[in-house]
Amino acid sequence: MKYSQFNSIIPYENKYALYNSFENKVLFLEHDLKELLLAGKNEGIDELENIHPSFYKYLLENEFLVPNNRDEANNLREIAKEVDEEKSIYQLTINPTMNCNFKCWYCYEDHIKASRLKSTMVIKVNKFITKKLQDEDLKYFHLGLFGGEPLLYFKKNVIPIIDHLKSESERFDKAFGINFTSNGYLVNQDFVDYFHGHGLTCNLQITLDGYREEHDKVRYVSKTKGSYFEIVNNIKLLIRNNFFVRLRINYTSENLTDTFKIIDDFSDVDLKYIQQNLLVDYHRVWQDEAVDGIDVILNKNMEIIKSKGFKVTGTFSANNVLESCYADKRNSAVINYNGDLYKCTARDFSKESRSGYIDSEGDLKWDDGYVEKRMNSKLHNKPCLTCRLMPVCNGGCSQHAMENLGNEEGYCVYSFDESEKDKVIYAKVRDILETAI
Ligand code: SF4
Ligand code: SF4
Repeated sequence: MKYSQFNSIIPYENKYALYNSFENKVLFLEHDLKELLLAGKNEGIDELENIHPSFYKYLLENEFLVPNNRDEANNLREIAKEVDEEKSIYQLTINPTMNCNFKCWYCYEDHIKASRLKSTMVIKVNKFITKKLQDEDLKYFHLGLFGGEPLLYFKKNVIPIIDHLKSESERFDKAFGINFTSNGYLVNQDFVDYFHGHGLTCNLQITLDGYREEHDKVRYVSKTKGSYFEIVNNIKLLIRNNFFVRLRINYTSENLTDTFKIIDDFSDVDLKYIQQNLLVDYHRVWQDEAVDGIDVILNKNMEIIKSKGFKVTGTFSANNVLESCYADKRNSAVINYNGDLYKCTARDFSKESRSGYIDSEGDLKWDDGYVEKRMNSKLHNKPCLTCRLMPVCNGGCSQHAMENLGNEEGYCVYSFDESEKDKVIYAKVRDILETAI
């Protein structure tokens, strides 16, 4: 037997947590047992069977110890492939416009004022939807509306696509779901009424850039008018009407401290709506990424929010294999307002970066070899192959992998910093304990 490459041991509340990232299992160890295990790891793990048979048996049964001939990295690669090649789901993302009613400093998108889906493009997209829904393997079609701000021209550019998706899904007996990545400012009663009137609902991801003043410094309508209160009120409208909202808090080292106060602005909402329909999701603005101690403040804020009955999650609890990004999957596409194709929504949508286009018959014409290249890009990065975190980190995503193709030395999304990896483990252990309650 061998000690699994996916094991980690971290200090955890006066004990040690032995965590296996493949099994997503944790075992808490007293100091002596931890030392025994480490001695076994260094001097030959089979010795442990003689010294502490019941401990050895437990480790074996829970796959902290695995057969010598198991290729753990390859097993993982196969699972990741299965997930990314899943045929029963299609994830289509549309940018109805690249225009936006705000201008945030970190936004990577050019706000192209005149950009919006033309009716000819709506026809092409709808043809694509109809074709996809006829696919026998397909069970679920997911439509994501991104942008720019996808609610800017909601009635003219988005409703015709949703109406089409609904009627065609019924015709071909497929399930479907809709979500918006929106700044939330333009949500209103009409939006709610449209969905309810059609027997539909949708999920929204809406972002706040910190608590009141901090947010208003970034997202404002004019020099004297911010947007915090309007957005919070719109989120309340949504969750009271059974729309699920992922409230993404974009944090930086500057704005993180006061963010726990945001939930006090929801104190007039019945806790049942909060618990059913709201998830607070902390996300670090990637331009601000640095290896530092900011996670201590993050954890403190998350604890406060949780203690008030809210659901909350943070960047550190990654699950990038089993819940890989849509861009990692073969069955996904991003169609820009002008018909250009992409996979990832976190980079620019320039003409030069496009990877294909949708043709007049609604067929997606990917550039030669592009999809295969992307599908094969992950899990080849050398440092990942021996990394204890690989089953949850996955080397980041296919975008990271694509941007590092040809990088012989390899890369690490945690800057090869073992203490950063430990933070991920810590979050995983905490998640396991919370779901066990
Ligand atoms: S950067 Fe990675 S995780 Fe983000 S959208 Fe692109 S592929 Fe997905
Ligand atoms: S990117 Fe870094 S942390 Fe992630 S699997 Fe690779 S080496 Fe490990």
